[in-house]
Amino acid sequence: EDQTPRWRAAVYPPGVGESVFIEAINELREQLGTDQVVLNDQLLHDGWYMEHPNTHDMMYILDQDELVPSSIVYPGSTEEVQQVVRWANKYLLPIFPISMGRNFGYGGAAPRVRGSVLIDLGKRMNKILDINPDDYTCLVEPGVSFFALHDEVKRRGYDLWIDTPDVGGGSVIGNTVDRGVGYTPYGDHWAVHSGLEVVLPTGEVIRTGMGALPGNNTWQTFPYGFGPYSDGIFSQSNYGIVTKMGMALMPNPGGYESFVYTFPKEEDLTQLIEIIRPLRISNILENAAQLRHVIQSIAVLGHPRNTYYKGESAIPIDIIHEAVSKTALGDHTWVYYGMSYGPPHIRKYKLDIIDTEFNKVPGARRIDPTTLGPDEYFWSRDRIASGVPDVQELRWVQWVPNGAHIAFSPVSPIRGADATRLIEIARRRHDEFGIDLLPAFIVGLREMHLIVEIVFDRTDRARRKAALDCLRAMIDDAAECGYGEYRTHLVLMDQIAGTYNWNDGALMKFNETLKDALDPNGILAPGRCGIWPRKYRGRGWEM
Ligand code: ADP
Repeated sequence: EDQTPRWRAAVYPPGVGESVFIEAINELREQLGTDQVVLNDQLLHDGWYMEHPNTHDMMYILDQDELVPSSIVYPGSTEEVQQVVRWANKYLLPIFPISMGRNFGYGGAAPRVRGSVLIDLGKRMNKILDINPDDYTCLVEPGVSFFALHDEVKRRGYDLWIDTPDVGGGSVIGNTVDRGVGYTPYGDHWAVHSGLEVVLPTGEVIRTGMGALPGNNTWQTFPYGFGPYSDGIFSQSNYGIVTKMGMALMPNPGGYESFVYTFPKEEDLTQLIEIIRPLRISNILENAAQLRHVIQSIAVLGHPRNTYYKGESAIPIDIIHEAVSKTALGDHTWVYYGMSYGPPHIRKYKLDIIDTEFNKVPGARRIDPTTLGPDEYFWSRDRIASGVPDVQELRWVQWVPNGAHIAFSPVSPIRGADATRLIEIARRRHDEFGIDLLPAFIVGLREMHLIVEIVFDRTDRARRKAALDCLRAMIDDAAECGYGEYRTHLVLMDQIAGTYNWNDGALMKFNETLKDALDPNGILAPGRCGIWPRKYRGRGWEM
């Protein structure tokens, strides 16, 4: 095999010339070691989920080399993170921290500002610092993935569960600070974290909550400490670099049982959501509810869409129904995946109520899991809802060649009318741009997210543009009806931050005040979540 490296033109941070940049890089190499500071000047390779690049967003929605760092650094400790931050302040270089960079659909490993110095925390800072089987807590560094945490719990033989998102290869810290979710009763990761260690944009380090009290033994058990609860400003922001995080773990509930129901008609959605709301809020439905449209059940089989349909337009719904009728789901439209926890008699109490309520939808059907083969997607949901990391979910990325995905994820009340309105917005725009609509509702507790993943051929510029235009239109349509997104990709952050504009943008003014106070040189992740430091504002950086 040809081993010669293939070079591309170097990228520099904005406003920094080559000679100053090389001087800065050499200085950092002296501090961290030559191998820990690399230039991003080789040809870009997309890899795949488990061998993902940290050189760019592997699921690029803009050109592949648009959102790229100039260089990548690998600190090995909190002290080295502080050194990197002080160095960035000296040379006024934008830096962008990632934990592992598997944030696919939201930007992967890419920085918001082209030419930023990427701080890849996870490569060397990947220790599980503590798992406490008495308090049911853990303390981790940025490079700890859900897989790694799960395996370590098993290795030590502890009778406790972790919580994992749909795909388990990402960083526990990265997912949590971006407010990702999972599917056990501990699925709201941000809500169950306790205690952060954060390097601030000026290089100081703080510990939040009880961590501020020397000699404390409650950092992971009491999240608040004393005084203002500062943790919130370190999620979905650019105010600090999280180097340690504590988190609650779940005791083994003493048994569990996945269930799946299907419902025949598109129109059943309204009634179903009304049924789900009180069950979920009262915890009869104990984990984040997943209500999926059957098109997802087809897509997750992993066959490309042209197996079913060769046309250019969005795939006609009767073709989906035809394909579904050959599967265990029969000719139904909505699929509910849930799990009941506890020993059999506890489960029975809850499952009986669920069965009665779900059967109020005419034609509702519970599928007997013992009839499902080991490769069925049901078992992937079963693993995830019991805290076992999995990657089967990724199969639907093969729906189109060179598949990549990006999500529209508005938050709404758990009401039938809202579900219908959101689906209408999404359907209208998907049809307009010729994109297959892959909807699922995830019911948190008192709210739900519609998650619409657009799967696109990333090598096809026209399809990328269609995906982005469709997203931008849906975001505006949704905002007009009072819906906002809970999380987003780098390229949509400005637009979405702009929809949270009550009282003449008072919240963003507050965010900017914090940014300028904490990061006077504007070096840390400029533009992340729409927050631009003073020196970038009004200079056309927003997109
Ligand atoms: P994943 O958790 O899927 O591997 P990332 O590590 O890229 O994904 O995390 C998602 C995003 O959250 C990053 O792009 C970055 O903006 C932010 N982030 C991740 N880890 C940290 C951290 N330790 N400190 C500050 N921000 C972080």
